[in-house]
Amino acid sequence: MAARCPTCKREALPPAKNPAFPFCSPRCREVDLGKWLGEEFRIVDRTPEADEDGQQATPANPEDEDGRP
Ligand SMILES: [Zn+2]
Repeated sequence: MAARCPTCKREALPPAKNPAFPFCSPRCREVDLGKWLGEEFRIVDRTPEADEDGQQATPANPEDEDGRP
């Protein structure tokens, strides 16, 4: 029933709670993108962590505390 993250094979939260769906986290999505673009593009000019610093206007979900410190 639950989707599996293509990167780490762990359970991925549903899209309503997980902007990175079908991946379990933005990091796994970046890893998968890196695979397609080539290993040399793993280092991008912004870190995935920047998303959680409020730099991007991602939809805030009060229930989405999973994976946050
Ligand atoms: Zn994952």
